Formats: sequence, structure tokens, C-alpha cells
Amino acid sequence: MLNFERVKIAHEDPQKRVKSFQLEPVKEYSDSEAVAESSRCIGCNICTQACPASLDIGGYINSTAVGDPAQTVRIVFENLPFPAIIGRVCTHLCEDICVMYDTGGPIAIRHIKRYAADKFSDYGQLLNLPRKKFIGKKVAVIGGGPSGLTAAFYLSIQGIKVTLYEKLPALGGFMKTGIPRYRLPQEVLDKEIGFIISQGVDVRLNTEIGKDVSFDDIMKSHDAVYISVGNQKPHMTGTPGSDAENVIHATEFLRRVSFGEIIDVGKSVVVIGGGFTANDSSRTSMRLGAKNVYIMYRRREIDRPGYPSMNADEEMEESIEEMVNYVWEVTPFEYVKEGNRAVKLRYWQNEMVTEKGGRAKPVPIKDKVHEIDVDYIIEATGQETDYSFMGDEYLRNLRLTPQGQPITNEAGMTSLKGVFSGGDSTNASRDLISAVRDADKAVNGILSYLNVMDQVNEDRLPILDRWKKFSPTSAKMAYAERSR
Ligand code: SF4
Repeated sequence: MLNFERVKIAHEDPQKRVKSFQLEPVKEYSDSEAVAESSRCIGCNICTQACPASLDIGGYINSTAVGDPAQTVRIVFENLPFPAIIGRVCTHLCEDICVMYDTGGPIAIRHIKRYAADKFSDYGQLLNLPRKKFIGKKVAVIGGGPSGLTAAFYLSIQGIKVTLYEKLPALGGFMKTGIPRYRLPQEVLDKEIGFIISQGVDVRLNTEIGKDVSFDDIMKSHDAVYISVGNQKPHMTGTPGSDAENVIHATEFLRRVSFGEIIDVGKSVVVIGGGFTANDSSRTSMRLGAKNVYIMYRRREIDRPGYPSMNADEEMEESIEEMVNYVWEVTPFEYVKEGNRAVKLRYWQNEMVTEKGGRAKPVPIKDKVHEIDVDYIIEATGQETDYSFMGDEYLRNLRLTPQGQPITNEAGMTSLKGVFSGGDSTNASRDLISAVRDADKAVNGILSYLNVMDQVNEDRLPILDRWKKFSPTSAKMAYAERSR
């Protein structure tokens, strides 16, 4: 008898996993489970139209269905050079729009990709990438996160000499510093980043542009530049008391923990914010020994960043399983200090007010003050783009959006000739798979700009906008509709 139900994936026991950075919350499909789940896919590729990076999802799912995970990996590599990473942490909007959603559940696209990628410890033989001869062009990539690594990979395999500049002592960008190790193990990062670099990328760690090397020098010594610096400048709330020593921004908190620091967060932690970074900070705090962790968000549950999506729901479910508490519709207005430490957080309850059909706004009800004891406060309140490393001369000619992001053309090039940009600092989606899409686009753009398209291997060029019709937004709408 045909079984249309999605094959359930096992989860690690929450009580066990919350004590460890090593245990992944989501386990992996076995061979038979992966084949059974993939076999539910009808190969319509509606999902591909919602995938920012235009992966041939129907193609790679069906390869696993016929017992050929190697082919799954090969197909993913057409546009994306780290399938095991994305197979763990993608926002997987493709699943929100999957046509099987109402017939037993969407195909577990993300889990299948992870299953296939984890089968291979080295992609070298699988992909059989011929070493391309240097074709005489040099490109600098600034920032070693997902977008920079993708660009470095696809340019290198075309014979471009790529130098990748990273200001931190390790590659990976947000994948290394912002996603905790229990969701994305170090071995997975090492395997996939190692493979990318092995294509001949010249890596300069601990090298900050604008400080260790000037942007002008980079421009003069390369034929094109790809900027993928992410959003590193923390946005702090400025709440009175936020200068206390136990108040920290989430990006710094997660970065320090990712480099192995054991931060003493005490027993009671408040995380300000409602998005994915707030979730990661709260669950990291639990793993550092906190007993009571509260996520405080000024709006309603349905207003939180990332919602509506299956991914946002899954991450919240996992946090709740790990005993993280959510406090909706509140405005923290003071961190009460004793000496140099915050010991209490004072807040108002909000009411949501809608004016003239606009988005509901949180308005604090100030006649009653609430307070909570705290040992540690983490502000997961966003980051900003910072292009000051370029220096005034270049910045003057860089066209920016009102939000301070560089404006790029169809090819990913900024208003500066030969300077391309992508990833979180440039797109509005600010997720890994969109960062990959930007790099794919820029690789094609850079090769055209360098006038070397007649020398490249076309089969190795990222494929742009495969069967584009829907968008990630339509996936969100589809999910919202089904969740009602
Ligand atoms: S939409 Fe669902 S059924 Fe169709 S190809 Fe994608 S995963 Fe398979």
C-alpha cells in the first residue's frame, strides 16, 4: 500500500542535548528512511522556484530515491558548495511550498540533502573537478562567510586566482560565529570549507581590510573584487544600564562561544529580540548552564522575524522543548545595576495598536512596572552594514539604499566598477541560501566583466534562476495559508 506520510526524523532527547554542544537536536535519516522519504517526491520542481539559489531540488531528491546520493551531491554542487551545512541550517522555504504539503507533509528536502552530503567525507573524487589552468585574472574576495566561500569556489574552479581575506582567525563567517556548534558541528564546517579552499583559494586569515591592508591596495592588485562582509556592526538598544559588564550583544556572545569561550551566564538569562539569533542565544545560554532563560520580544508571536515559516516554527518548538521561555509584547526599559552589573530588568507590558490598516505597533502600558532578576542580558537586536573599511574616497562613489546597503545591478556589481557585493550586507533576506544566490550571480557577473566567458567551462558555471516563477515570499504566503 502506498504511504504518503512524511518519514519522521528522530530528535535527540531535549534533556540530554541541552547539556551538550556536541549533540545535534535533529538526527539523520537511515538509508531506508532517506529512500522512502525521497520516493514521495513527484519531481514537479515547484520548490525550486522558491529556492533563492535555484537548486534542482526535484533532480537531487530523485537521485536519492533511486539510491544514488552521490548524484544528489553532484546536482547540489551545481549552485552550492556546502550541502552538509545547508542540509542542517537552511531556512528551507522550498518545503513551505512543496506540493506534497497537504498529502502527508512536505518532502523533507533539507534532511535528504544532509543525508546525502554526510555519506561522503571527501567530495574530491565524487565531483572529479579538473584543475583549471590559471587564466590570468585575479579576484579578491573580502569576507570568508557563505557568500565569499561560494564565490571563491566557483571562480577558482574556472582558473581565476582568488585571494580570500578574512579578518577573523577562522573561515565560515556567520556559519562559524553565529550558528552554534550543536546545530552546525565543527567537523561539518571543516569538511566543506576545507574542500572549497582545496580548489586553490589563497586564504589570508586575521587580515582586516582598511586596517591590515587598504581597500585601495586591494583594488590596485586585483582585476575585480567581491565584497561579502556580512553585517558585523551590532545594533544595541541603548537601554539605561546597558553599559553593565553582564550585558552583551548576541553576535559577540555567539562569536566568543563559537571560539571556545565558556562564558559564565549565571542562572537567569534574558535575551532581547525575537528572531533566529535570539533563539540561538537562548539555547546556547542553556548549554552554558543557565536554568531560567527568557526571550523577550516587543511584538506578538506571529510578528516575530522569520514567521510564518516551517523553519521558524521548528526552531521555536526545539527551544520550548529545551525549556526556553518566551515573553511576548514587552518593552524592557531599564537594566537596574548594582555596581557594574545588571541585577534586574524592568519592563512594561505592551498592547498592539493598529493604525489605518498598517502593521500593528507595540505600545507600552506604562502604569505598571514589571521586573525580573537577571544574571546576564543578551541583546539579539540586529546588526548593521559597515562599509567604512573602503575609505572615504571609494565610499563617496558607492551608491547605497536608504538602509545603507550597496545597490547592485543584475550582475551583482555595485556602482564602483569591478566591485561586486553580496550576502547579508547586500540583500534583504539575510539568510545563508540568499548569500549563496548572490555569489552565484556575482560569479557569472565577474567572469563576464573580466571578459573571460570564452575561456570558462560552462558546465561549471552556477545556474541562475532555474524555472523562476514563484519567490521566497510566495513560499511564506503558502505556509501562512496552510497554517491557518
Ligand atoms: S515541490 Fe515537493 S514534490 Fe515537487 S519536486 Fe519539490 S520536493 Fe518534490
